[in-house]
Amino acid sequence: MEPETSTEPSKKSLKKLQNKEKRKAVKAEKRAEFRTKPEPEHAASAPADVDYEKDPAKDNYGEVKGKSFSKDAIEVDLRSLDESYKDKTVIVRAWIQSTRGQSSGLIFVDLRKGGNWTIQGVVGTEMHEETPAKERPLISTSMIKWIRAIPPESFVVVEANVKLPAKELTGSRVTAVELGITKCFVIASAPARLGLDLETAGIMIQDFNEDPKVDKSKVDEAKVDEAKADEAKVDKATVDKSKTKGLIEKGTKPPASMLTHLENIAIHKRAPVQQAIADIRVEAKKLFRSYLEGHRFKEFEPPCLIGAASESGSEVFRLAYFGQDAFLAQSPQFYKQFEIAGGRERVFCIGPVFRAEKSNTPRHMTEFTGLDLEMEIQNSYTEVLDVLEGVLLHILRGLQERCAEEIETVRLVYESKPLLLPESGKVLRLTFAEAQKLLREGKPDQYSEVKDDEDMSTQQEKDLGALVREKFNTDFFVIDKFPETARPFYAKLDDDEDNVVGKRVRVTNAFDIFLRGQEILSGGQRINDPVELEKRIIAKELNPESPGIKEYVSVFRQGGVPPHGGGGIGLDRVVAWFLQLPSVQLAAYYPRTPKRLMP
Ligand code: ATP
Repeated sequence: MEPETSTEPSKKSLKKLQNKEKRKAVKAEKRAEFRTKPEPEHAASAPADVDYEKDPAKDNYGEVKGKSFSKDAIEVDLRSLDESYKDKTVIVRAWIQSTRGQSSGLIFVDLRKGGNWTIQGVVGTEMHEETPAKERPLISTSMIKWIRAIPPESFVVVEANVKLPAKELTGSRVTAVELGITKCFVIASAPARLGLDLETAGIMIQDFNEDPKVDKSKVDEAKVDEAKADEAKVDKATVDKSKTKGLIEKGTKPPASMLTHLENIAIHKRAPVQQAIADIRVEAKKLFRSYLEGHRFKEFEPPCLIGAASESGSEVFRLAYFGQDAFLAQSPQFYKQFEIAGGRERVFCIGPVFRAEKSNTPRHMTEFTGLDLEMEIQNSYTEVLDVLEGVLLHILRGLQERCAEEIETVRLVYESKPLLLPESGKVLRLTFAEAQKLLREGKPDQYSEVKDDEDMSTQQEKDLGALVREKFNTDFFVIDKFPETARPFYAKLDDDEDNVVGKRVRVTNAFDIFLRGQEILSGGQRINDPVELEKRIIAKELNPESPGIKEYVSVFRQGGVPPHGGGGIGLDRVVAWFLQLPSVQLAAYYPRTPKRLMP
């Protein structure tokens, strides 16, 4: 046995020492790993010089797991914070929009919720100087550095003391109070490098090219010039500017293409401009529904899956259906009429409409949301026109009233002229022939040859819109009495001989409604007599015995169907042209085009 006084360590203590060294080495390795770890994809990373383990304030920051809040802290929605919360301890969950400040003792953290609701947070001991020394929160330099390094668009939860700012805040939406942050935990981290940052997501998209190989930096100069020319006319006076304070100021960054936006759908959607467009869309739908319910209309759901290519075979998507073909409905038209035949009197529906058109235009998508209605007619098809004008003006005026703030948010990115709307009951109704005459006379160099029995091109419609604005001071008008050549077989022909121009051009009781020179609605009276219907089907060189058409006509033989009419509105177009957006795709949540099925 070795003497107790020996300077040599015992075997036991040697082993102990070795184990201690080993543990120390593992810890050091772990710390080194923590410090030098490459920026992880989905975790807030610690800056290299933060020694988290040794930090006495470590319980006040880091990942949320295992961390706790003060007993007196209350959960509050960022949007409801005001002076009434002064000196209270609150828990707030939000995205980090940005962190600012170089000092090791003080940084600013902008927190955001719901589009542009931002609040200024401050991390630093000087925020808590008035608090008695014993109760002061523990805020270390490491903690400040760690929070400063959280990637923007990470979702965090903070505990904070609500303070009145020393001087008026100008950079955030919440101006009455700021947050003296005492704890900050990351719930879900953004990657260190975003595919699309929020500032860029809030810049006007000019490139809608869908081919990734094409030069994305090419901008539509004409659109930019047009926007600049209109700038002076933009009406921004009616809105409380403080509501747009939380928006990131227009910087010098280049815009991203629509392709980049959609590939980064989460950030695209977070941009205040997209949040505002989405909120306007929600309101438009609500206004459509509430107006019609107030006018005795009943909602129904037509099928999307149908057994035959209903109106014309070329525009429908075909899909396999248990050994046979099914099609995606290109319109709820036939089903709205079946509801009328079934005694529902006045109906409407809101739902997806599918078009297999290879139209790569700013107006077309392969799937869009239709707002449709159909109603019995008592004396004249103009009763339908009255309702359709009524519901559209209700939507457009309602949006102006309810969404002033959202409209202003969109205008900061996509400028728009003030929308000129007519008084109810005073909507300009031009016949198709009158509209063509206006074009022939207003732009003879381009349109001297336009005929009364030829449908209009998109450019013609836009030029007509400009002429009408100039002459009649309105952005909202109707073109009625379309030639039968431009309408489907079920459109009711006009019986009034006066409208049969020289008996050569037969016109229909069908119309379109235009907003800023672009079609947003097609409607009219439908044929309700099966014999007349069959005649028109044959006149249009279609087969009344073909699948879909045969079953459609048979419904009118099952029982007398009252005269009726209706219309279909494209929700995406209403929102897009109301806001004067460059493409209908910006008004859709997930635009579908011939080249795009994702996300
Ligand atoms: P367009 O002539 O502009 O292609 P359309 O005459 O085919 O339109 P309708 O079939 O009458 O349009 O559809 C009714 C409404 O639905 C239109 O007024 C428009 O608002 C909307 N709409 C039609 N096609 C599309 C589309 N491809 N993408 C988005 N909205 C559309």
